[in-house]
Amino acid sequence: MRFDVVTIFPEFFDSMRVSQIWNRALDKGLIEFQAHDLRNFADDRHRTVDDAPYGGGPGMVLKVEPLAKAVESIPRQAGAKVLYASPQGRQLTHAWANELAEIPQLIIVAGRYEGVDERFVDGWVDEMFSIGDYVLSGGELPAAVLMETTGRLIPGVVGDYESVTTDSFVDGGLKYPQYTRPSEFRGRSVPEALLSGDHAKIEQWRKSAALEKTKVRRPDLLGSV
Ligand code: SAM
Repeated sequence: MRFDVVTIFPEFFDSMRVSQIWNRALDKGLIEFQAHDLRNFADDRHRTVDDAPYGGGPGMVLKVEPLAKAVESIPRQAGAKVLYASPQGRQLTHAWANELAEIPQLIIVAGRYEGVDERFVDGWVDEMFSIGDYVLSGGELPAAVLMETTGRLIPGVVGDYESVTTDSFVDGGLKYPQYTRPSEFRGRSVPEALLSGDHAKIEQWRKSAALEKTKVRRPDLLGSV
């Protein structure tokens, strides 16, 4: 799968290299990634990519010409989609990430300032995605979030694929609680069933603990469990 990100801060994405999972996926060719500097598509010597909004008001708006030129400069694979990070977009969920992971190439546009000229959204964007009902200063973090959650669904990216298939939201609810050594710490013990070595008992405990956890922490998910 290939990701292309259009941004005024391409160096932001160097930070993804801290993840061993991301590095390995790039090295193995499971993921291809390129950040494109929006300023390279400006047509003045100051590399201007923003301007004041028509009608007045606060802040600046990313201009349509460099955005359109940047997106058009990226070689397209069949089925590629252009996504724009926006708090006004469709909320990113595990289910949607699963669908996105089937797409061979995602071109992700990170906004800044007040956002982008609406004509860019109308003419060049297939879908807008939001990572939550709050506003960030830029689309770089949302782009990284989308790449991370989509990328890890590609078989081979996460070493132990079973861990991906048993995560929260895969079956609709939250994952069961987990524990590691020691079996007791300051009077807090690991549930008996997990120490029993009895696989059926462990499975049974995990199922009911996951349901209980979902009921308490995310009752809104119960309909989909
Ligand atoms: N003025 C815009 C509005 O009210 O809808 C918000 C612009 S925001 C300050 C700047 C950029 O950050 C956006 O263009 C978008 O790319 C990104 N952004 C901010 N919050 C986001 C969110 N929750 N999800 C996805 N992208 C977000």
